[in-house]
Amino acid sequence: MAVETRVTAFQSAQQRFDAAAEVIGLSDDARRGLREVKRELTVHFPVRLDNGGVHVFTGWRVQHNISRGPAKGGIRYHPLVTLDLVKALAMLMTWKCAAVGLPYGGAKGAVACDPLKLSQNELEHLTRRYATEIAILLGPEKDIPAPDMGTNPQTMAWIMDTISMHSGHSVTASVTGKPVDVGGSEGRVDAPGRGATYLTLEALKYLHVEDEIPTMAVQGYGQVGRSTARLLSEAGLRVVAVSDSKGGVYNPKGLDLAALEEHRQVRGSISGFKKAENITNEELLELPVTVLVPAAVQDQITADNAAKIRARLITEGANAAIAPEADPILHEAGTFVIPDIIANAGGVIVSYFEWVQDLQAFFWEEEEINTKLHHVITRAFYEILHTSVNKRIDMRLAAYALAVQRVANATTVRGIYP
Ligand code: NAD
Repeated sequence: MAVETRVTAFQSAQQRFDAAAEVIGLSDDARRGLREVKRELTVHFPVRLDNGGVHVFTGWRVQHNISRGPAKGGIRYHPLVTLDLVKALAMLMTWKCAAVGLPYGGAKGAVACDPLKLSQNELEHLTRRYATEIAILLGPEKDIPAPDMGTNPQTMAWIMDTISMHSGHSVTASVTGKPVDVGGSEGRVDAPGRGATYLTLEALKYLHVEDEIPTMAVQGYGQVGRSTARLLSEAGLRVVAVSDSKGGVYNPKGLDLAALEEHRQVRGSISGFKKAENITNEELLELPVTVLVPAAVQDQITADNAAKIRARLITEGANAAIAPEADPILHEAGTFVIPDIIANAGGVIVSYFEWVQDLQAFFWEEEEINTKLHHVITRAFYEILHTSVNKRIDMRLAAYALAVQRVANATTVRGIYP
C-alpha cells in the first residue's frame, strides 16, 4: 500500500540546509545543531471581541539560531499558519540575515487568525496580548519582531508600546517597521523593492544584457511588486505586464504606471485597466520579457511551468515563489535567478538600520539609508555570485552555502555551553 509522504515546510527548509551543508562539507555535529530550531514558544490567549464574547487565539514565536546576534524576524497574522511553517520561516531568517552579513539570528512569529475579519479594536487587543505572552523572549538585545503578512507599521507600534509599558520607558529598538513618528526609519516601506531593483540592475550588467530597453513583468502588484516596478521603470526598464490576485494586464509597448496606480486606487485592483489586454497570472509568467519578478505568493514557478519561462532573469521578490523542483530546470535552461533570500532582503537590511538608529537615537536621511542599502546588498550579491561561479552551483545554493558557513563559524567558535 502506498504511503503518502508529504514534505512539510520545515522538512523542505531542512532539505535546503542539508544541500548547503553538503556543499561546504559541514561536520555531522554542526549539522545536527543547525537543523533544529533553538526555541519554540506556543501561546494560547483570550481576547474579548467587540460583541462581548471571548475568543482564544493560538500564536507562536520561534527562534532558530542566535549565534550571530539577536533573533530577527517578522510576525504573520494568517488563518492557515502552523508551528511547522513558523519554524521553516525562522530558519530562513537565520540564513537571510547571514547571507547579507547582518549581525542577527533568525526568528519568526505568528497568530492563527484572519486579520480581515477583526476590527481595529480587536486587532489592537489581540496584538497587545500576544506581545505580552511572548514578551519573555523579546527585547532589543534578544529578539526584534517586524511586520510580515497580515501585520503592518500600526501592529509594530502597538507591540513597541506594550513592551514599553511593561518596562516603564520607551523601548523603540524593540521592533522594526514602525511608523517614522515612533522611531521608524525613512526608506523602510520601499526597502524590499529597492533592494530588488539594485540587484536586478547589477545582474543585467553581469549578464551583459544588450536589449535596448529591457522589459519586465511583475506578478503581484503589492508592496514589493509596486516598488520594484516603479523603481526599475525609473531606472529605464519597460514594465509590460503586472498582475494581482484577480489577474494581469499586458501591453508590449509598456504600461503607463501612473495611470495604472490611479486605476488601482479607485478600483482596489489593477484588473479592468483599459490601456492593456487582460491576461492570466499563468500567462504573465510565460511572457517573453527580459526580467520576471514574481512578487506575490509561494510556489508560482514549479516543475510544471519552469521550462516555459522565457525571461532571461528572475528576481524572486516573494518568498519561495520558485518551488525547489523548478530550480534545476531554470539553471539548466540558463535562466539567471536572484533568489528570495537576497532578492527581498532589502526589508531586513533597512530594519537593521532602523534598530541601529533607535539604539543610537540618531536618525539618517533617506538618501543615506539608500546608499547604505545599496552597499550592503551589492556586496552580498557579488559574494554569492563568486561562490556560485567558483563552486559551479546555482545562486540559491551559493547564498545558502555562504550563509550556513557564517552561522556554523559563529556556532563553532562560541563552543558548546557549559
Ligand atoms: P502584499 O500583500 O502587499 O502584495 C501581494 C500582492 O500579490 C497583491 O497584489 C495580491 O493581490 C497579489 N496576489 C496574492 N495572491 C496572488 C496570486 N495567487 N497570484 C497573483 N497575485 C497574487 O504583499 P507584499 O508585502 O508585497 O509581499 C509579497 C511577498 O514578498 C511575500 O512573499 C512576502 O513574504 C515577501 N516579502 C515582503 C516584504 C515586505 O516588507 N513587504 C519583505 C520581504 C519579503
